[in-house]
Amino acid sequence: MSSERIIPIVNLSQSSPATPPAEETPTGLLLDSRGRAMHDLRISVTDRCNFRCVYCMPKSVFGKDYPFLGRKELLSFEEIERVARSFVQHGVRKIRITGGEPLLRRGVEDLVAMLANIQDVELTLTTNGVLLTRMAARLKAAGLDRVTVSLDALDDAVFKAMNDVDFPVSDVLAGIDAAAAAGLAPLKINMVVKRGLNDHGILAMARHFRGSGHILRFIEFMDVGASNGWKMDAVVPSREIVELIGTEFPLEPIDPNYEGEVAARWRYLDGAGEIGVISSVTQAFCSSCSRIRLSTEGRLYTCLFAQHGHDLRALLRGGANDAQLAGFIGNLWRGRSDRYSEIRTAETAALRKIEMSYIGG
Ligand code: SAM
Ligand code: SF4
Ligand code: SF4
Repeated sequence: MSSERIIPIVNLSQSSPATPPAEETPTGLLLDSRGRAMHDLRISVTDRCNFRCVYCMPKSVFGKDYPFLGRKELLSFEEIERVARSFVQHGVRKIRITGGEPLLRRGVEDLVAMLANIQDVELTLTTNGVLLTRMAARLKAAGLDRVTVSLDALDDAVFKAMNDVDFPVSDVLAGIDAAAAAGLAPLKINMVVKRGLNDHGILAMARHFRGSGHILRFIEFMDVGASNGWKMDAVVPSREIVELIGTEFPLEPIDPNYEGEVAARWRYLDGAGEIGVISSVTQAFCSSCSRIRLSTEGRLYTCLFAQHGHDLRALLRGGANDAQLAGFIGNLWRGRSDRYSEIRTAETAALRKIEMSYIGG
């Protein structure tokens, strides 16, 4: 993507690769300017999608004439692998392949195989699920550890109103079954909740996935990008969701799996499994945010709500050696000060930010 699609209005991130290197910590851990370690790398492998979710890629913006990236603009698999290895040297232990719809990237299982070869890293992928019936077994064989499937409703009319294309719920449910059968379990199922659109389906989703072994996670509708018409009124606070489910199925909170986990975990008291809530709007978790994002065309974003990225592709294609690449990444992270969700206002929500389909969720 050309940088002119992202108009910097206010520099919220203040991150700069030119920031002088700080001292290493006694443990050798790379920390940003707020003391946060880098743990989690998200890689967007395509800006295209077969859905047009109204909260992510509304048809009014991502229509027939939308100028998606050309092949040469995308990072190649070799470039992605090289970058990923450098990140792992800096402490990343979790890599998520995302998009757009990552299963639309031709040969994505080859990329999975390349990344699965990197030691000490958990490799996951987020998908809308409709291509999993065809691809789950291949992805597992290539070395994928787990998969997250997005599903916003069980009711076909609501689901179609949200994805704005004609895929039925049954395609996604079949994809979930295929992924579980292939051994990509336990799955996480992501439901973005938008008030007035699908919030009446929260209990139905909880009933459906209880006892399945899959972990249903509710995500607050966020003001990502510049085109989803976000308003605070449309956010259903996670607290409300937990209370609602708790009226039918009593819940208790449980500890995070690791420091910096974004989903708060709740367990059904009757032993039917757990749910997660991701409260990026009502209970910001910036203070422990350990994520960095590599966009489809090779820009690094230190925050989901960043207005500009840092051009790694130019560095890669300009002949940078591994030490220069590592230096760029290290300096970028050390200078990171992002905390958008802590300072969100109606004004910041209206700013023009990078679209989610370029950097993934
Ligand atoms: N296409 C894949 C999918 O939908 O799972 C991967 C990319 S999608 C951008 C990643 C995640 O971001 C999905 O779970 C999606 O529901 C979530 N997402 C997209 N736009 C969002 C928004 N405005 N607020 C909250 N979550 C959003
Ligand atoms: Fe596509 Fe995922 Fe965005 Fe929906 S949320 S439009 S499936 S990228
Ligand atoms: Fe991390 Fe930015 Fe989200 Fe805060 S707003 S949790 S810094 S991605």
